[in-house]
Amino acid sequence: MDKIEQFLDIVGNSRNIVFFGGAGVSTESGIPDFRSVDGLYNQQYDYPPEQILSHTFFMNKTEEFYRFYRNKMLCPDAKPNTAHIKLAGLEKKGVLSAVVTQNIDGLHQAAGSRRVYELHGSVHRNYCMNCHKSYDAQFMLSSEGVPRCSCGGIIKPDVVLYEEALDDSTVTGAVQAIADADTLIIGGTSLNVYPASGLIRYFRGNHLVIINMSPTPTDKNADLLIHGKIGEVFANIGD
Ligand code: NAD
Repeated sequence: MDKIEQFLDIVGNSRNIVFFGGAGVSTESGIPDFRSVDGLYNQQYDYPPEQILSHTFFMNKTEEFYRFYRNKMLCPDAKPNTAHIKLAGLEKKGVLSAVVTQNIDGLHQAAGSRRVYELHGSVHRNYCMNCHKSYDAQFMLSSEGVPRCSCGGIIKPDVVLYEEALDDSTVTGAVQAIADADTLIIGGTSLNVYPASGLIRYFRGNHLVIINMSPTPTDKNADLLIHGKIGEVFANIGD
């Protein structure tokens, strides 16, 4: 059996799949990841992206944060790709229970996925730091400089910045889903960002599948390892 046949066999025989993904799931939608050769870490900015996307940087250099954020993190024209769409289809068929994602782009929901644990939040939710009024991504995109609420407060994206803690209930839900899964498919993530990537240790099901372009620290534990593009691999799943 080749690897794609093995993948289809595992998916076909699973009853409770959980997908754990990262930025590589959205590169085929035109959103750059962090660590690929054309990812954000290999482009030139005055500061490294990890520093810009930190809580300290947000508080101290808010305008500079927003210059990067509007240019690189808000991608209003991005559409779900085959991986997002097939994952939503597996949930609809009742064989996938949850998507756990490190992405903040909302593309799983745009594809129709309903149970999505967004470990790092979402660019689609933004709140005034003063009165907590909410704003959408379009408002953030069309604002200039530091986006301000009608009350004058600074608006902050509901995105977990470096140095900030993950949301407790999101983590609890994700851990429960992973612990209950019979198959865990990990895809499009370098598994380098903690504590998010540590959640996969709660998996105790039958099949661990990894689909990623480059090696990850967990490859040795995989029952099936596919080095390829996730959209192309998922395209083999029938409707
Ligand atoms: P990462 O950039 O560290 O790693 C991405 C991985 O995906 C790499 O190993 C790469 O080889 C692989 N990859 C790229 N395109 C792929 C494809 N088409 N098919 C299969 N594999 C592919 O991403 P990460 O592990 O998610 O960590 C980065 C952090 O940055 C996350 O916390 C995430 O929140 C954030 N981020 C999010 C977005 C987004 O929301 N779309 C984009 C950039 C960064």
